[in-house]
Amino acid sequence: MATSGIAGIFDDVVERARAMDPTNARRWFDQLVLLHLDGGALGIGCPDEAACQYLKDHCKDSFNRAAQQITGHLLSVDFRVVTDAEVSDPALSLKLHADYTFDNFVVGPSNRLAHASCVAVSQSLGNTYNPLFIYGNSGLGKTHLLHAVCCQVQKECTGAVIELVSCEEFVNCFIRAIEEGNLTGFQSQFRTVDLLVIDDVQFLREREHSQEEFFHTFNALYNGGKQIILTADRPPTEMQSVQERLVSRFNWGLVAGIDPPTYETRIAIVQKKAHLRGLEISDDVAQYIAQHVQANIRELEGALTTIYALALTEKEPVSLPVAQKALEGQIRLAIRHISITDIIDAVTHHFDVRLADLQSKRRSQSITEPRQICMYLARNLTKHSLEEIGGHLGGRDHTTVMHACSKISKILKTDSKMDALLKHLSKQIEQVTQG
Ligand code: ADP
Ligand code: MG
Repeated sequence: MATSGIAGIFDDVVERARAMDPTNARRWFDQLVLLHLDGGALGIGCPDEAACQYLKDHCKDSFNRAAQQITGHLLSVDFRVVTDAEVSDPALSLKLHADYTFDNFVVGPSNRLAHASCVAVSQSLGNTYNPLFIYGNSGLGKTHLLHAVCCQVQKECTGAVIELVSCEEFVNCFIRAIEEGNLTGFQSQFRTVDLLVIDDVQFLREREHSQEEFFHTFNALYNGGKQIILTADRPPTEMQSVQERLVSRFNWGLVAGIDPPTYETRIAIVQKKAHLRGLEISDDVAQYIAQHVQANIRELEGALTTIYALALTEKEPVSLPVAQKALEGQIRLAIRHISITDIIDAVTHHFDVRLADLQSKRRSQSITEPRQICMYLARNLTKHSLEEIGGHLGGRDHTTVMHACSKISKILKTDSKMDALLKHLSKQIEQVTQG
């Protein structure tokens, strides 16, 4: 025998069957996989129904004889369609991260819509939002949500065929399929699923051929009522160098953004992550991490790890001083401190009002609006409490600040001018503090 082990035997069987009946041999025999070899039966997995039928009709005899010759046993060959999840190719099988479940996902204002839409989709594939497009900066939980959907679907809908790949894997599979002249295999892998999940589709940029194939995959699934979920680091409309027709399809269903988490959400995430690892964490340590690591949840986890590692090496319990010591260098380098003064400077400059006006009791629209915008920005860009923010703006109490924040949030939902203004101001403030 040329190769050893069951897999080797299987390869030899396929090779022998090819040699025995070259007329009926096909290139896609490469994709056949060994399912089992036991009880006088050799189970063979085929990529799709058509292949399976072909083998049953034309090749049963040659495979039976080949199997007998190679193994020296009287074996009967059995063909069956297998899903990708059953195929042992590690690049293709569904590898779900055990921690990335809905239970372990902390929901807050920054990710509420994305979370809710993922839950809805997982409960009813193809029927709610199709496609579902989630976008947001790196480290804000897109991949986590995708795994959570797949995990949920696997649990709830037995038999649903799921394909979860990064866009890079999708592109590489496609390139490999072309090189190997096996486009049919590729297509059957991606077009016969109930749920196709592709992470980081910004990777399609400037990949014309892959976009073309992706377009057809999308249409095949969409027209068949199958669910598609995509993520990217930006909304569809900002995806340059992606074909217009794809961008428009990305917008057909629901587009949900994820923003950086608020202070409260960051605390809850730190606590959740500590809890997952079986670590005790006090409120002051959780707050300290949440105050100092703001933009990226992956870094929140990193901070947690750094602190526990230091506590371990110094053989001390995790406390605020240990946390401060552990993150000292990191924070000085990486974290920008935005102060309320930075915010007030930008807002007063933009609206041409004075700080004294904002702090005064005046209630005219030309003063209340900038005042409320200050409160809203301070709430979102700094770690200050409602009381502290109210204090800076004329000694107002925390309910006034809360009211201002919810009012601006409400306006933001319908008024694109306000949205643009706040983005502009935030950017300006960030630039000032970075510089
Ligand atoms: P992205 O794909 O957007 O770059 P990931 O999904 O890889 O981000 O998330 C980075 C890390 O942050 C992961 O460990 C993930 O579990 C964690 N994470 C992100 N958002 C949340 C959340 N809302 N609750 C709990 N963990 C989160
Ligand atoms: Mg990701």
